[in-house]
Amino acid sequence: MGVDWHSSMASSSTTAASPAYRGRFAPSPTGPLHFGSLVTAVGSYLDAKANRGTWLVRMEDLDPPRNMPGAAEAILQALEALGMMWDETVVYQSKRGDAYAAALAKLKKRKLVYPCACSRREISDSAVSGIDGPVYTGTCRKGLLSGRATRAERVLTEGALIEFKDAIQGKVAHNLERQIGDFVLKRADGPYAYQLAVVVDDAAQGITDVVRGADLLDSTLRQIYLQQLLGFATPRYAHLPVAVNVVGEKLSKQTLAAPIDTSNPVAMLNAALVFLGQDSIDCAPQDTAAFWKRAIAGWRLARVPRTRAEHAPALP
Ligand code: GLU
Repeated sequence: MGVDWHSSMASSSTTAASPAYRGRFAPSPTGPLHFGSLVTAVGSYLDAKANRGTWLVRMEDLDPPRNMPGAAEAILQALEALGMMWDETVVYQSKRGDAYAAALAKLKKRKLVYPCACSRREISDSAVSGIDGPVYTGTCRKGLLSGRATRAERVLTEGALIEFKDAIQGKVAHNLERQIGDFVLKRADGPYAYQLAVVVDDAAQGITDVVRGADLLDSTLRQIYLQQLLGFATPRYAHLPVAVNVVGEKLSKQTLAAPIDTSNPVAMLNAALVFLGQDSIDCAPQDTAAFWKRAIAGWRLARVPRTRAEHAPALP
C-alpha cells in the first residue's frame, strides 16, 4: 500500500520475500453499486494497481434474505463499465459453506467456541456498551441452563488484546473481551457470520492488503483475533472514510443511495477520486483507460482523509 506504509510499519515483516500484493473488493449484493461502494471499489483498485498488485472481487452473499436478485450481476456490470476489471474468477460466499464449516469445526475442537442461548434482548438488557454495540458478558460460557436452546455459536475472547496499525486511521488497540465480548460465528438457524467468512476467504485468496470502509474498523479487531486462532497471516489494513449523506447516515440500500450512473464514467470516477483526497483527472468523459492510467500513477494513500466518515458530494 504505497512506499510510506511499507517502510513505516515497524512491526511488519515486509521484506524482499513478501508475497506480491493481493487486494480485493468484497461487496454484499444487497443492491446496485452506489457512491459509497464505488469509493471502496476505487480505493481498493487503485491501491492494488499502484502496487502492481492483483485485484479480486468477492461477492459477500452469505445472507440470502438480504441479497437482492440481480444485484451481483449489476455490480459486476457497473465495474466493467467503469473500466475496473478484476484479475481472477469472482468468488461467491454462498458457495463456500464447507470452508466456513471446517474453520468452525477447528475452533470447536480446541474448545474455543461455545453454544449460546441468549436472545438479542437479553444481551442488550444485561450488557454494558462497548466500541461496537452491547458487549456480550459471557453468560453461556459455562454451559447452557437446562431447557435453553442454542441460538448461536460464540468464540471465546478471554484476555484477547488486539492491536494493529491501520495505514490510514493509525493505531487501533482494544481489549476484545471488554470492548466487544465473545462474538457470534454462526447463528443456529442462520448463515455463518461475516467475521468468520471474511477471515476464511481472505486467507484462502491470499489477500495481503485489505482496503475498505472505516465502518469495519471494529470488525478488523475480531478478524485479526480469528486469524490468530486459525493460524492465518494478518493482512495489512487501510480503512477509507465512509461516504455519508446529509444527515450523517452511511450510503446504503437502506438509506436509499442512488445507483451509480455508468453512462458518465469519468465524472463518477472523479467524484470518488476527489472524495479519497486525490486530484481529479482531466480526460474525455468516456475515456476510462486514460483515467485509470493517470489515477494509478498519481495514487497517494497518504492523501486519503484520516476520518471515519465524510459527506458524499453532489453527484454529476
Ligand atoms: N461485504 C462487506 C460490505 O459490503 C465488506 C466486507 C469487507 O470488505 O471485508 O460492507
